[in-house]
Amino acid sequence: MPQNKSQHIAALADQCVQCGLCLPVCPTYALDGNEAESPRGRIAIAAALAKGLAPVTDEVREPLDHCLGCLSCERVCPAQVRFGELLMETRGLLGPAPQRPRVLLALARQPALLRLTRLVGLHRWHAGLARWLPLPSRWRTALALAASTSAPQLAPSLADAPRARTLARVALFPGCVASVEDAAAQQAAIALLEAVGHPVIRLPGLCCGALDAHGGDTQAAARAARRVRDAWQASGASVLVTVTPGCIGQLRNALPDARVDDPYALLAAQAEHLQFRPLPRRVALHLPCTQLNVARSGEALQALLGRVPTLEVMPLPARCCGAAGSHLLEFPERAAALRAPTLEAAGAVAPQALLSSNIGCRLHLAAGLAEQGSTVPTLHPLVLLAQQLATGQHS
Ligand code: SF4
Ligand code: SF4
Repeated sequence: MPQNKSQHIAALADQCVQCGLCLPVCPTYALDGNEAESPRGRIAIAAALAKGLAPVTDEVREPLDHCLGCLSCERVCPAQVRFGELLMETRGLLGPAPQRPRVLLALARQPALLRLTRLVGLHRWHAGLARWLPLPSRWRTALALAASTSAPQLAPSLADAPRARTLARVALFPGCVASVEDAAAQQAAIALLEAVGHPVIRLPGLCCGALDAHGGDTQAAARAARRVRDAWQASGASVLVTVTPGCIGQLRNALPDARVDDPYALLAAQAEHLQFRPLPRRVALHLPCTQLNVARSGEALQALLGRVPTLEVMPLPARCCGAAGSHLLEFPERAAALRAPTLEAAGAVAPQALLSSNIGCRLHLAAGLAEQGSTVPTLHPLVLLAQQLATGQHS
């Protein structure tokens, strides 16, 4: 291992005082009940690898590959161990995991290809095809995810929402998979931001590099970061937003001097300028780990949803759903087991829709609902907010 990288990992690991306060919040520790699958265990493994005290074998690295990167441990750590940084650095040193689904990930990062499958209606065959594949199988999981997309359209009147004031110019980062599968959420973000007075410019569909960084492919992540910086510099905007909280951490790494946020923070700051029509429905709200622990915009989203008259919002317990970037394709069985408590909690509140901001989480949950025979639709919260936006409002 390169000496300076190893020393950096060892220094990060040495911050851990081994108190164990992070264990109760770790989803993989709850799943396996095994110290190696806990934050403290992973820190010990990373330290042993960095200090040359353990060989790099598939068995030794497996708990690091299983980590969801949810950062629930980082949030509760009294010693402020930078677990996310330690994980990324260690994975970068180890390189991509042996089970990394390279072909599937390469396909998922091609917005033009995703658009083409939608255009020719190929996605309608995905569910039928998936049933012929063995369980568990990453291709079966991928087809089930593709079949569960809904991409609802917005009411056309939203494009005419009034723009009364001029606030900071915002660049919208569409992402790769999300640029196609969450096109409605992006349209919704633009409608809402413009309604409160933020002019919005949409950047080209690019990958932020999070899938590469989390998978240990540091060179691919660095190339993606360069493309993001070029697009950002050409935009002339003051704030970069994305409707996908899973991209925010990587975008912040790529643009350390820029403000990178999700739209909820900007919208909540101008909430008094948004009026919504009533919606007499009960919805379950799933807050993705990256929204809770990186964007930290869970409260802003709940405040915005609370402004929709008669809407009953039932927040689900904060717990990783198991999607976690490419984890759901690398370890489909573990991802399904991690998803089960969230689906159970959602079922208990009998919602008329399930909301989640992260495309990966939403597709994973939608596939789980479909497996259970549930017809509860899944939706990006911004789509609901934009659909309820009162036209003709005055700011
Ligand atoms: S809470 Fe922090 S210091 Fe305590 S064991 Fe976990 S990572 Fe280490
Ligand atoms: S990032 Fe999440 S899954 Fe990984 S060790 Fe921390 S709490 Fe556990």
